[in-house]
This record gives sequence, structure tokens and C-alpha cells, in this order.
Amino acid sequence: MDELVHREAPSPNWNERALPITMAVLHYTEMESCDASLARLSDPEAQVSAHYLISEEGQVIRLVDESKRAWHAGASYWRGLRDVNSASVGIELQHPGHGLGYREFDDRQIEALVPLLHRIVRKHNIPRANVVAHSDVAPARKTDPGELFPWETLARYRLCLPRPEKFEVGDPFDNDAAFYLALERFGYDIADGKKAVEAFQRRWRPEKINGEIDGQVRAILFQLLLDRDRGLTR
Ligand SMILES: [Zn+2]
Repeated sequence: MDELVHREAPSPNWNERALPITMAVLHYTEMESCDASLARLSDPEAQVSAHYLISEEGQVIRLVDESKRAWHAGASYWRGLRDVNSASVGIELQHPGHGLGYREFDDRQIEALVPLLHRIVRKHNIPRANVVAHSDVAPARKTDPGELFPWETLARYRLCLPRPEKFEVGDPFDNDAAFYLALERFGYDIADGKKAVEAFQRRWRPEKINGEIDGQVRAILFQLLLDRDRGLTR
């Protein structure tokens, strides 16, 4: 028995991967209960799934084997890649989401997520820069897991990139076109520019999400790219 998985509930909603695993995508379910989420993620009609579902109490349920392609990301893009489902492990967190009453994530849920994600990242050698939100890979459509998700907790365990704190250049990029090019280089689909900026803010500056490119947003993106390109992060 697997000590990090409390329950097996195989979903029929998967197929074979077309790419090696290089990403992890975090979601919220936006459902009223874990049972309702489990039913939906296993419903052949719904055509959705994830590898894992974590209840608010911290119960980890496995729905799809990591070697298979689960159907959680939908139409998505990250760092040049469009078949995010083929390249990722998908984790759903039971949560009412923005639609049913957005609130803090339960500590027990995060305490269950940390060791599970640690194992996934280590097993597949996933770069920290590729542990992302659904909103990062589908900025025009998705907002999950949202601005209250505790990324800094994951960053302390080196499971995702931390928010940059020291800036070598105060306000880089002298025009918006240069900013969008840089945002695309970091990974985002910029087809809808305002939504892409909102998704970037939701992940990296959650205290102010307005879709506007300001000096602080420019500085954070520049520092993220600088650190990654120097190999300080990957
Ligand atoms: Zn999602």
C-alpha cells in the first residue's frame, strides 16, 4: 500500500501519454463536496479527470495512474507546449473555488499535498518553474487554484519557484510589447494579453490583480527570467 495515497478510485477518463512528464498542474475543483468532485472526475460523460484529488481534510484519492494521461488541463499552453495533459501530473484540490465562495485552503489539505508533490517532482525530475497553476496554462479560461493558494509554502519546500524578493533592475521593459514577449518567454500564452497579465499577477503578485502592466509586475517578471536563465532556478 502507498503511504501517501489513502484511497484508490480509478476513473475511466484517461488515455496514453504522447510526451514525457515535465510538469505538475494544480487545480481546485470548484465543487460543493469531495464526493461530488469524485463523481464528476469519474463520469465518462464529463470527460474530465486528474491523477489525484485531495479532500479538504487531507485525504489523497488516486484516480489515474501517473503513467497515463489524465484530462485536467483542457486547451492549454506552457513554454511552447500545447498538450499539457500529456506532459503533466494533475492534482485537484477539493475547494468551492471562486464560483461557490472563495476562501483559504485548509492546512490539512496542504499538509497532504506537500509530500505527494515532493514525490511527483522527484520521481519525474520536474523543474520548479514547471509546477504551475491551471490559470498559468489557461489564463484566458481559468483562475484556479487562485490568489489564496499558498505558493510560498510550496516554495519553502523547493516545490515551486518563490516570488522574487530582490530586484536587480527596478523597472525593466520600456514598452508593453517587450513585456509580452518576456511573458511568453517565461511560459504564458499571451493570445489574450490582459488575461495573461491577470494570471501572472494571480500567481506572482496576488495582492493586486487588475491585468495592468505596472513597474512591480515588470520587475518581478524580469527577475524570474534572469534567475531562470542564469540557472539559479529551472
Ligand atoms: Zn483546473
